[in-house]
Amino acid sequence: MSGDHGKKTFVLKGIGVSPGIVTGKAYLFDPVDIQLSFYKLNDASLIPVEIKRFKNALKESERQLLEIQNDLKKTKINEPLYVIDVHILILNDKNFITRTIKYIRRLGINAEWAVRLVLDRYKKIFAGVEDSYISGRISDIEYVTQRVLRNLSGKKRETIWELGDDVIVIAQDISPADTAQLKMEKVMGFATDFGGRTSHTAIVARSMEIPAVAGLDNITQLVHTTDNVIVDGTTGLVIVNPHPEMLKRYEVKKLHYAATQEEYLKYAKLPAVTKDNYHIKIGGNIEFVEEIPMAITHGAEHVGLYRTEFIYITSEKLPTEEDHFNNYRQVVEAKELNWSTIRTFDLGGDKFPSNQKPLKELNPQMGLRAIRFCLREVELFKTQLRAIWRVGAIGKVKILFPMISGVEEVIEAKKLLREAREELVAEGVQVASEMEIGAMIEVPSAVVIADKLAREVDFFSIGTNDLIQYALAIDRSNEHLTYLYEPLHPAVLRLLKRVVDEAHKANIRVAMCGEMAGDPLCCLILLGMELDELSMNHLDIPRIKRIIRKSSLEEAKVLLEKAMSFSIASDVRTYVQDYMTQHFPQEFQKDED
Ligand code: PEP
Ligand code: MG
Repeated sequence: MSGDHGKKTFVLKGIGVSPGIVTGKAYLFDPVDIQLSFYKLNDASLIPVEIKRFKNALKESERQLLEIQNDLKKTKINEPLYVIDVHILILNDKNFITRTIKYIRRLGINAEWAVRLVLDRYKKIFAGVEDSYISGRISDIEYVTQRVLRNLSGKKRETIWELGDDVIVIAQDISPADTAQLKMEKVMGFATDFGGRTSHTAIVARSMEIPAVAGLDNITQLVHTTDNVIVDGTTGLVIVNPHPEMLKRYEVKKLHYAATQEEYLKYAKLPAVTKDNYHIKIGGNIEFVEEIPMAITHGAEHVGLYRTEFIYITSEKLPTEEDHFNNYRQVVEAKELNWSTIRTFDLGGDKFPSNQKPLKELNPQMGLRAIRFCLREVELFKTQLRAIWRVGAIGKVKILFPMISGVEEVIEAKKLLREAREELVAEGVQVASEMEIGAMIEVPSAVVIADKLAREVDFFSIGTNDLIQYALAIDRSNEHLTYLYEPLHPAVLRLLKRVVDEAHKANIRVAMCGEMAGDPLCCLILLGMELDELSMNHLDIPRIKRIIRKSSLEEAKVLLEKAMSFSIASDVRTYVQDYMTQHFPQEFQKDED
């Protein structure tokens, strides 16, 4: 099919990393867009001239990076600052400088050529490193050398603000310094070859609330500046040179999306109280502190799940106690939040600190992960526990232990938590006077012994993502099994009901923070069970709140009883689906596509 200007229309599928739809002109952001000239020096007297040019280019590069860093300091985006520090360190690296000068002298070549040779040498060395994290760091060296080369050539990169219009940035990936150069007010969306939900592009896009799709493989080779593109950050689709019909449809979708967002957001901060006065507290799940403002505008009353493992996954070295503390501080200082639930890191399985090699496990999901990993790596765990105690002195935090499968794990974790506090007190450090302790209920054995576990903790938080995978023996990340992954499976409903009932018998609160909590279809089922709190991706909050406000606990209990009377999962689904679409037609409107 051909789209506008007779150009070929094509659709690319990536990962939607920041929701929303945007249509506009592409801007190909290519950091290697300069033509270099390489030549031999025909006179030895030119050698000092080349060395001087090289040194000037280094100086100019450092000046530019410092300027970018200064500009960034005025914004709230802190993370790139550290990366720019690394880039400055590379610029000043002795080996890099002396080797380049040596090449100019020995080979009698111009500075551009010498820099290129040094880069090629580094590339070869890094390619031979087995550790993929280390070998991936060549991108920082490439970034720095490109800047030096650009300064040698005297060329300035064409910047976005020189183009009059707003644009959709197409890039391999966006480095932190790139973001600073991009004049973000001109950027309406991102589409990148690399990256996923944790990439820098994704984090920035989400915090700026602009749609983005990452992991598109080779979009930079397929799209040209000024091509028309549609970026749908919700579905992960990018449509290049859309057919006019398609564009029209997307314009309608975009308006629809914006209108529903606006409509939802208007009431997002109202509490989730049913018509018969049952109040469910609604929290937001976060992976990065940058998500907090969005969570608050979407109606999060607290943070119900902070997945802290991302601090390890995204940082270059093991985070220190100070790193943890500074990070959590930004969470608890958000005044609009009633409390923040910090889940201790769920590393292991398929999530490892960036500087550590994953263990080779046959069944990583059932392997040495989460609390098991923490109880083995006690020092790593204690570093985090200390930071949580310290931040508890500033704002209200609750602690949540993941993957609890038996009482002994809770007892052991609590012992370490107590020790961490005692150590801090002995050191004269300010700590919280008390802290609520929660257990994630995401392993079937924890459901079976929920009555025993309830005596050890102050609250439960049900992690349905894992609980369903373990209960139904369905790998949550296996795309061939998604048809079996059924939150409304009778077995799952029984497990959930048991957890809530046992928690309430023991007089403790029970929350849910798995994806099921944000699924509008399951909303009344969960209400009928009388969960106390639901925590979800912020985008789901407004709709869930609306459904709860339009319903009653009484009707939810009737629906639940009926749903639990079926033996077959698909019967439950059909029944619940019919009920919800009939009773809440507005909330289940199909997107006109
Ligand atoms: C869960 O398992 O439901 C959960 C919330 O934890 P995670 O998705 O991080 O495993
Ligand atoms: Mg889990």
